[in-house]
Amino acid sequence: MKPSLNADLHCHSTVSDGLLSPVDVVRRAHANGVNLLALTDHDETGGLAAARAEADVLGLRFVNGVEISVSVGDQTVHIVGLGFDASNAALLAGLQQVRSGRDERAQRMSEGLEKIGIRGVLEGAQRYVGNPALVSRAHFARYLVEIGIARDMPNVFDHYLVRGKPGFVEHEWASLEEALGWIHGAGGIAVIAHPGRTRLSKAEMLKLFDQFKALGGEAIEVVSGSQAGDEALEYARVARRYGFLASRASDFHGPGESPVDLGKAEILPPDLTPVWERLV
Ligand code: AMP
Ligand code: MN
Ligand code: MN
Ligand code: MN
Repeated sequence: MKPSLNADLHCHSTVSDGLLSPVDVVRRAHANGVNLLALTDHDETGGLAAARAEADVLGLRFVNGVEISVSVGDQTVHIVGLGFDASNAALLAGLQQVRSGRDERAQRMSEGLEKIGIRGVLEGAQRYVGNPALVSRAHFARYLVEIGIARDMPNVFDHYLVRGKPGFVEHEWASLEEALGWIHGAGGIAVIAHPGRTRLSKAEMLKLFDQFKALGGEAIEVVSGSQAGDEALEYARVARRYGFLASRASDFHGPGESPVDLGKAEILPPDLTPVWERLV
């Protein structure tokens, strides 16, 4: 990375499950020294226009982004799209379709928690929701922490919101083919988000990388605020082996909640080709 370039290509606003408005995300990124930013809300592009307008005011380079929920077998994988045309009709329709299942899922999550005696969780979680079309497990987790069910968000997830736990609901998201089709159809670049967070076996991971490559997938988050620091070495090797571009991301959701702030992720290993070479 050029010392002058502080790129952060994955973060969230209140348009999905972040704590800051799109404008405040951009202001905080700028204050933290970021000079190339992508806002990547889950399954939503509704914050991009406001974020871009603020970035223009501040002289911060801004890239359209989205983080698409994808089902791979019975697991969820997140694919980030960068640098697409945000008015592309097929992309917008695809994201709308992905979002549409969230309400029923949230209802069923709440019912699962009610069965173990935790009542009114959907109503409680909704107080944390910034966009009615985008209820996420993060909103449930914040409410469950508020009422003292668990100490913090990671604990809530471990005990209530992951597979096998009362608040978990199986859900079918987009397919990998669909997500890459929407991103590429809108002129964007596809990135495997936080590979260290996926719960796939080693063999399944390699299959994912093969499929992603075969579908024209371009990049991988070698450095992500939501995976352990030493995992960067592992995913740097994947980037070299597959010829993927490398991305750097905080996956920031909010102050006091996210371990890595905007623009504060580790830098990329210097031999990798940064994905922003294709974006700027
Ligand atoms: P959803 O898209 O509704 O399944 O929610 C996924 C979101 O929950 C992620 O994007 C994170 O914001 C949050 N999340 C998932 N796992 C954890 C965890 N272990 N600790 C804290 N937040 C998490
Ligand atoms: Mn999230
Ligand atoms: Mn994610
Ligand atoms: Mn994210």
